[in-house]
Amino acid sequence: MTSSEYVTCFYCSEYAKIATDYPQNFAYHEKESFTPRCFLHWQYECSKCGKETHFNGIAWCSDCKVFTCLRCVEEKMVRKEFLIYDYYYNIPCHKCNSPNPALDFAEYDGQHPFQIGDLIPKEDVVIWMPIYKEELKSQEFPHRSWGSERILALGKAPKHTRLDSLDDYTPKSTWDKMAQFWISPEAEGEYHHTNLILPEVYRLLDTQKDEIILDVACGEGTVARYLAKHGAKVTGIDISKMIDRAMESEHEDKLGIQYLKMSAEELSNEFETAIFDKVICNMALMDIADYKTTIKNISHVLKEEGIFVFSITHPAFAWPATTSMRVPPDSQRNEDKRKIALDYFDERPTLLPFGWETPSLAFPRPISNYVNELVKNDLEIIEMSEPKASKEIVEKYPRQAYMDNDTLPDFLMIKTKKKSTN
Ligand SMILES: [Zn+2]
Ligand SMILES: [Zn+2]
Ligand SMILES: [Zn+2]
Repeated sequence: MTSSEYVTCFYCSEYAKIATDYPQNFAYHEKESFTPRCFLHWQYECSKCGKETHFNGIAWCSDCKVFTCLRCVEEKMVRKEFLIYDYYYNIPCHKCNSPNPALDFAEYDGQHPFQIGDLIPKEDVVIWMPIYKEELKSQEFPHRSWGSERILALGKAPKHTRLDSLDDYTPKSTWDKMAQFWISPEAEGEYHHTNLILPEVYRLLDTQKDEIILDVACGEGTVARYLAKHGAKVTGIDISKMIDRAMESEHEDKLGIQYLKMSAEELSNEFETAIFDKVICNMALMDIADYKTTIKNISHVLKEEGIFVFSITHPAFAWPATTSMRVPPDSQRNEDKRKIALDYFDERPTLLPFGWETPSLAFPRPISNYVNELVKNDLEIIEMSEPKASKEIVEKYPRQAYMDNDTLPDFLMIKTKKKSTN
């Protein structure tokens, strides 16, 4: 064996980031993988079921001299920060039932069967003894890589912040700040809007001449202008400064669009019941805090059998429910990129930096929240859409679309019809 064939154990090298005296053992197992492992950090055979088990899922009982894996008994989770972890499993011995920590914590605690001499390793391995353990606790960690952070450290860490209060941010204030971007020429040809969102929204809306259409959160007016040019009578509402730009466009090129600076929550004060043929809310419901009132008001102003279409960032596959990770992080090839799920159920307001200065304020929520609100307000789902990048889009925008929008959706669109009471 040449020296180039020696690979250091993944766990030994991760532990050394916390415990600087940790010995670096050679890996003889899974040398080709991202996590090559030494004998100490490999697998141990359960004395009950006989199954080989990762060292983090099996415990040693030094009274009974047996291993018990977590498949054979009911383990408990113990939250404690040690080495690169923030918890370990306590696994009761299958013979005497006394709880023993899994071997990851046992080693940190100096109770690993190799440390206490109950067992002798069959392969060459240097055993660490935790003599400086007390110092470890108070040490300033050079590499906080605990829990999911350890995996996220392999790629691009998520940069979004979950907020516990809205003291410093409101949807209006963040959109006012972002207005500069969204009315810039850069946004005009924004890849997602141009290729995935707008064509699908227009198809679902299927605008006919003389239809009376409301555009909720119309922004700078792109959708409203498109609909007006196709013969619809359009009203656009928005709370942010972006509607100023929409009003300017109407001055420059009159299409008969009525713009009102107001929030969707105020809709039912401003309009009569059942006056619109169609309502569109493009890429905004996920940025609206009170989506329940918004949907209720939309149903209120919509005629019977009227159509309501909305598009949102995909609650399951886009930020902040997921993030992407690249190995290595700076790779430009998309086969090096994977999406990983973070927390689909976390509904706290979230700041999403899209790569320019001002973060956008989002209100993430599961798909079922939207669907249940539609049901409650007599809005019957007639079509759902999760736009997939076509071959043409993939060839034109390989870095955005290949092994990305052709494999997972970034957006979700729902078309509903208001039930008739007859
Ligand atoms: Zn190791
Ligand atoms: Zn077992
Ligand atoms: Zn025992």
